This record gives sequence, structure tokens and C-alpha cells, in this order.
Amino acid sequence: MIEEVMQKISEAEIILIGIGEEFEIKKEDIINNQRYSGVIDKCENDKQIIPYIEKSFYEKSNEECILQRKNCYMQLEELIRDKNYFIVSLCMDGLIHTADFNENRIVEPCGSFKMLQCSDKCTSDLYDIDTAFSKQIDEFIDGSIKGEDLICPVCPKCGKPLVFNNILAENYAEEGYLEKWQLYTKWLQGTVNRNLCILELGVGMRFPTVIRWPFEKVAYFNQKASFIRVHSKLYQVAEEIKDKSIKIQASPLDFLKELSN
Ligand SMILES: [Zn+2]
Repeated sequence: MIEEVMQKISEAEIILIGIGEEFEIKKEDIINNQRYSGVIDKCENDKQIIPYIEKSFYEKSNEECILQRKNCYMQLEELIRDKNYFIVSLCMDGLIHTADFNENRIVEPCGSFKMLQCSDKCTSDLYDIDTAFSKQIDEFIDGSIKGEDLICPVCPKCGKPLVFNNILAENYAEEGYLEKWQLYTKWLQGTVNRNLCILELGVGMRFPTVIRWPFEKVAYFNQKASFIRVHSKLYQVAEEIKDKSIKIQASPLDFLKELSN
């Protein structure tokens, strides 16, 4: 099976990759971490701080779950770096950016923990996190300052709290990814009847209209496409494309590790 996958990838002119929820860092990974769970407990009275703690976990901790994903992304990048590729990812942890992928070939429709937006979406403007505030968060995690001393960023236009620009925002500003999405749809138009390999990694049913269903459709309409679906449970493929598909029941993390061996 692995050899067959390697062959499909090496033969392909173009590669479309979907990365799904099985790839993402789980809430439990943070909660089970002694250091971070202690910090999160301290946010009881100010839940607004919790996403900043999560961001710190993604960016600064060296836990196994983080290293494992960074490695997987690195291996994937090595595998496809000479190809014409595009990646659609549902993950919000931002770990994909630790590998050397071309940033103009990644779209994250669910957003991430990189930019901030107005919680009311009074404007669709996005904001960077103030470095002084990031430093305060580090100090809070270290225990050198208290939660009540943290002044969370607010919208410069209406004064409402800023939140991360991702689907967890009540009024998600989708403008954060639309430019990349346009690049993606344009790129996709150029794949018609070319030798395309679609590789779907751990994409379940959380947002099937973003990757899972449209990817099956692309595979169906492209005569020269091959389709590889890797998922620990939902690895089945639609009847119409089964002849051009390889389905693999595995965790995408284990699969990539095996692929690079
Ligand atoms: Zn506002």
C-alpha cells in the first residue's frame, strides 16, 4: 500500500492535499499537560485569556504531540517540495507553518491563532498581537504576574474585546483567509484533466463541505486523478471514485511516519 502511494505521488504532476481534524492538537493534549493545565485553571475568572495560553502551547512547548506534528509536516514538505501543490487545512494550531511549505500554497479556512479580530466584527480588519501583551502572557504562564494584571487587547474602533481570527470567534471574519481561498480556487481550475494526486489526511466530518466532499468531486471529474484517503475511522470513499482511490485506515501521523521511512 505504501509503495503504491509513493508511486502515485511521484507520478503526479500536481498534488492537492487536505489536512483535517485528526492532525490537529487536541484540547486534551493541553489539559493533560501539567504546566499548562495549571495555568488554564488560573484563568477561571477570565476565560478570555485561555486562547492565548493555547497559542503559547502550540508555539512554545516541546511536548511530544507538538514535535510529532512538526516532524510530520517536515516529512510531507520533503515529499512534495518539487511538485506543483496546494494545501487546504482545517487545523488551527498553526504548526503547518513550522515546515518550509510555500505560504502562498496553504489556505486555512478555519483560521488560526495568529491574528486578532473584533469580537463584534464591527470591522473586518485584523490585528497583530502586541508584543508587550505577548510578553505579559509569558510572564503569567511563568507565574511572575497575576491574571488580573493582564489587560487583554480591545478593538481600536469599538472597544470590544479582540478575539482570535478563527471559527471559534462568534462573528468570524472570514476575510482572513479569502485571499488565499481565491488563489486556491484559481489553482484548482488549472488542474482540470492534468495528472493530479489528491492526498487527504485525517479529514473527517467536522466541515465536510470544505475538503471531504469537494475533493471527492474533483477526483470524480478529473479523468487522470488518483485519490488517497487516510483516516483512522472514516477512510471509506464514494462508490463513484473507488476505482481510482486508495483508502487507508490509519492515523495520518502514523501514516506519514511510515511513508517517510
Ligand atoms: Zn470593534
